[in-house]
Amino acid sequence: MDLITLIVLIAVAAVVVIGAGVGLLVGSTRRKSPPAGGGTDVIAPPEAPTERPAEATVEAPPAPVEEAPAEAPVVEKPESTASRLVRLRQRLAGSQGGLGRGLLALLSRDRLDEDTWESIEDTLITADVGVVPTQELVERLRTRLRVEGGQPGDVRAVLREELLTLVDPTMDRRLRVSGADGMPGVVLVVGVNGAGKTTSVGKIARILVAEDRSVVLGAADTFRAAAVEQLVTWGERVGVDVVRGPEGTDPASVAFDAVKEGVDTKADTVIVDTAGRLQNKAGLMDELGKVKRVIEKQAPVTEVLLVLDATTGQNGMIQARVFSEVVDVTGIVLTKLDGSAKGGIVVAVQRELGVPVKLVGLGEGADDLAPFDAGAFVDALLGG
Ligand code: GDP
Repeated sequence: MDLITLIVLIAVAAVVVIGAGVGLLVGSTRRKSPPAGGGTDVIAPPEAPTERPAEATVEAPPAPVEEAPAEAPVVEKPESTASRLVRLRQRLAGSQGGLGRGLLALLSRDRLDEDTWESIEDTLITADVGVVPTQELVERLRTRLRVEGGQPGDVRAVLREELLTLVDPTMDRRLRVSGADGMPGVVLVVGVNGAGKTTSVGKIARILVAEDRSVVLGAADTFRAAAVEQLVTWGERVGVDVVRGPEGTDPASVAFDAVKEGVDTKADTVIVDTAGRLQNKAGLMDELGKVKRVIEKQAPVTEVLLVLDATTGQNGMIQARVFSEVVDVTGIVLTKLDGSAKGGIVVAVQRELGVPVKLVGLGEGADDLAPFDAGAFVDALLGG
């Protein structure tokens, strides 16, 4: 009996062990089977290996390709001012041509009656020429066309001459980018945020580099990290050093360091970008006044450029007034003339501040900034 009991126990034990073994096998088979079906946990492992290599193959190759040029910086050669003037003249004719052509059409009418003169005035005022310069121009045109008028060719010549007088070809528009006594020229660039200040600093650097001048940039718009980064990129593209400080640093200290580097390295020109927060006049005066004072411990400021957005009309004029009361503006950079048909602001702002427009921005391209030329501007207004 005992033996039989033992045999039975062994048999039961064997069945249990075999059963468990089969169970394990089935279990493990099930775990493997879902890839054909759908359990997420179980599908993930087979997918993961295929995903990872896929990521690796997508990401890995471009990384060295992208990084390689960054390590060996490719320095661009900016366009010379002579060739950019030709290209920009065409663009100017496109955006501003309506004003000149409109005036020409009105002045070429058979009879210049009061309604026509009113339309001429409206055209000029709409183009932001300003009320006083408009009245002056209309008076002169009335007188000259009464005396000399007649042939359509004459009308064009008279209008060209009078527009040129208004834009004033006698103003000295040279940028003062050279210093005296072995010092660098120091250009301080001011204006409200969004006017195109930082972009213009980068573009001016390119103009100077195209003329083989050595340049240092000061990123003193320390309130906007983006502005600092933007300027660093502009500098890198043409191999120009950009002096910066941590976000929120005192702008004056960055300006000081930039000019110091310019002096130490005997650079030709230092261009300092400034913060353009339109706070109250006293705050602005404090800030820009301090920047200028601190710079001048190193070297005199040779040029103060006010950057104005041509599309802002009367607002731009108000900004111009405030800045000119705070700093001694010596030149105007008029940006976004490509996006505005209101070239008359050239006349208005020069009258208001008594300083010339020295540079005009005509697009977002790196070399879309050119020295302002009164004759070329008027020709562009008249469409040729
Ligand atoms: P900031 O805040 O005064 O420093 O202004 P930014 O330099 O950052 O420029 C503001 C925007 O205006 C940017 O998108 C520039 O590309 C654009 N901008 C600057 N100058 C011109 C210009 O002459 N024409 C056009 N179309 N856009 C410009």
